[in-house]
Amino acid sequence: MTNHSKTTTHILGYPRIGEKRELKFAQEQFWKGEITQKELKQVGTELRSRHWKDQAVSGLSYVTAGDFAWYDHVLTTSLLLGHVPARHSNGGFPNLDTLFKMARGQSVNTEQINREHTNTESSQCGCGVGHDESANAAACDMTKWFNTNYHYIVPEFRQDDSFQVSWPQLFDEVSQAIQAGHKVKPVLLGPLSYLYLGKEVNEEEVNNGFDRLSLLARLLPAYQAILSKLAALGVEWVQIDEPILSLELEDKWSGAFKLAYQILAGDVKLLLTSYFDSVEDNLSQIIELPVDGLHIDLSAAPQQLDAVNNAIPQDWVLSVGVINGRNVWRADLQSWLEKLQPVKAQRGDKLWLASSCSLLHSPMDLELETELTEEVKSWFAFAKQKLNEVSLLGAALDGNTHAIAACEAYSQPIKARLTAKHVHKASVQARLQSFTRQLINRSAPYVERAHHQAEVLGLPLLPTTTIGSFPQTADIRQQRSAFRAGELTATDYEQALKGHIQDAVKRQEALDLDVLVHGEAERNDMVEYFAENLAGFQVTRFGWVQSYGSRCVKPAIVVADIEREHPITVDWSVYAQSLTAKQIKGMLTGPVTILCWTFPREDITRKEIAQQLAFALRDEVDDLQNAGINIIQIDEPAIREGLPLKQRDHQAYLEWAVEAFKLSAAIAKPETQIHTHMCYSEFNEIIDSVAALDADVITIETSRSNMELLKAFEEFNYPNEIGPGVYDIHSPNIPTQEWILQLLESAAKKIPVERLWVNPDCGLKTRNWPETEASLKNMVAAAKTLRQRFNQ
Ligand code: GLN
Ligand code: ZN
Repeated sequence: MTNHSKTTTHILGYPRIGEKRELKFAQEQFWKGEITQKELKQVGTELRSRHWKDQAVSGLSYVTAGDFAWYDHVLTTSLLLGHVPARHSNGGFPNLDTLFKMARGQSVNTEQINREHTNTESSQCGCGVGHDESANAAACDMTKWFNTNYHYIVPEFRQDDSFQVSWPQLFDEVSQAIQAGHKVKPVLLGPLSYLYLGKEVNEEEVNNGFDRLSLLARLLPAYQAILSKLAALGVEWVQIDEPILSLELEDKWSGAFKLAYQILAGDVKLLLTSYFDSVEDNLSQIIELPVDGLHIDLSAAPQQLDAVNNAIPQDWVLSVGVINGRNVWRADLQSWLEKLQPVKAQRGDKLWLASSCSLLHSPMDLELETELTEEVKSWFAFAKQKLNEVSLLGAALDGNTHAIAACEAYSQPIKARLTAKHVHKASVQARLQSFTRQLINRSAPYVERAHHQAEVLGLPLLPTTTIGSFPQTADIRQQRSAFRAGELTATDYEQALKGHIQDAVKRQEALDLDVLVHGEAERNDMVEYFAENLAGFQVTRFGWVQSYGSRCVKPAIVVADIEREHPITVDWSVYAQSLTAKQIKGMLTGPVTILCWTFPREDITRKEIAQQLAFALRDEVDDLQNAGINIIQIDEPAIREGLPLKQRDHQAYLEWAVEAFKLSAAIAKPETQIHTHMCYSEFNEIIDSVAALDADVITIETSRSNMELLKAFEEFNYPNEIGPGVYDIHSPNIPTQEWILQLLESAAKKIPVERLWVNPDCGLKTRNWPETEASLKNMVAAAKTLRQRFNQ
């Protein structure tokens, strides 16, 4: 088929960090005062030029501008709109200092920033974000960008907010791209998503009925001004992102689009853009809008193609996002070609081809990975490779015979993989076949187990423990990198780690904690460590993805059926146990968290991956208990963030997530005590699922809400034991004994004291030893005081 109308190709955004994480290092140097603002800006200019060039060279019709951000693109939008909280404002136009103040609570580094406390680059702590301490100009909150691991700075709305174009970054960058000779399509976060993603910050205003949506009328003139400025620069199309159109919106939100877009229509052509799920819930509103095109995510929700294509006006552009922006897999271009040919025949040049979402969520460049096998490499495409995918598929759709043949050849490895025996392993398949629902239940109910455990463990009332990790000291990190670089032998490294375990055990004994941990010195990251030790994962060297600000993570990739070929943590736990008469708590990362914090396969479901992981962890649990470890913690800090975007999909997810956890834990004998840990504060929605995990003990974050959160557990009548975190490990402040005691007293009013544990609210790897010991000393003392009172 030859079609003379050339398919327009584009991406929704590109990673901004740079292939060597140049932006990250420049930001951090700037914050430390090591480089000037001019030097920082220079790094940004170079990165943008390079990234536009990548897009142009690969043959895309447009380069995308406006996707670059000094910290986060939602924050950039706030500055663009002159929407700065009073505490961060300098009175005049915002500048780069304002931006960093909003993001970090201060502009240049003076002391440590709480949310940037992590000293290991890829260490993830689901709880390390979203709050701040800095007293006078506290940073804005940060929260997850939909269901990705990217975090954005939450806009703060007050009744008297006003908006006015105040920050030239977008226009400067568009001009920069135009000057470099590119055809530019700017991206702009749309007004409704901007409002929706923020929050009202004044309680009194909210009590008086203030709703941030009421600011829309004041917001739209600023958007109008932005669009007309872009038009004046010669821009034809603007990608206006309204990702909330993929949610199940309340009527007041979906209903607000029409009027808003009537006001915005005119100066430029608008490509209304949504991603991460289907827009079908809002389709009837969408088709009423005076826009010029619609982008949909066919990677996340392929089933919407026909409905959307049939519903939207014939003269609209339909931009189909087929190249997955948030995973690392090579696209099956041949299959897409077949699927899209009829749409092309029907829509002609009104069919555009794109990445599903911004490539922000995928690593930069596969070519940097020199240690992957050729086969594994032939399965992947990172951001830079995805540009070529979009471009090649576009050419093939246009009937270019070379491109059609190239698509077929390109898709070959990914097709071969579908039946490869080393991907679909007979042993793992057999294990999955053996699954029955019996396997997910412990052999005795909690009440009975608690009895056995009391006998075996001999713990006092209000037992004290920690969440697993102890400070990752400079020593530990140095030794790990020396080992990785081959400068330290395996034996020497093991010796060094044993030294750290000894040290941790000694300190915990001196503190008189009741349940000890080995300290996790061997783990750079709670997920990566398991990925490195399980068959079926691939780790990369440079596969960094921005998590927030300058913080990047390097998720492992699930490439094949997952198998545990050898015990992973047993030796460390057994060694720790050999050093003490107290109980050592074994420490595992749960199946759902490993799944959520890695790049999943796309040829099998998330549910199936979780089940494979669960079987592997189940064997580890069994080996631990057989080796004499009586308490085992299976961390699931990510269980809540794995929730799908749409409410109606929640139940199905929670069912298999709970099942996976239970499958991993249920091998435990009644006398083996299973703990789990979650570090976030919104339990209400998932409390039944949390209870359904049937862990003997759960440790949770509650210190920052002064035990407020325990309400959910109280009202639900949570049946098992709970360790409400009694102090916030994200802060360097040392909690006093009195403070902790008071929190414990209030916890004891909500949860029967026989079922209460005493612990910090998360792992301590980001703290130093003096802080850690001082805090734990007060925690143990508070527990002892209360214990005495109850024992009298
Ligand atoms: N066991 C882990 C630790 O202590 C738990 C971390 C987490 O909850 N994110 O570091
Ligand atoms: Zn935690």
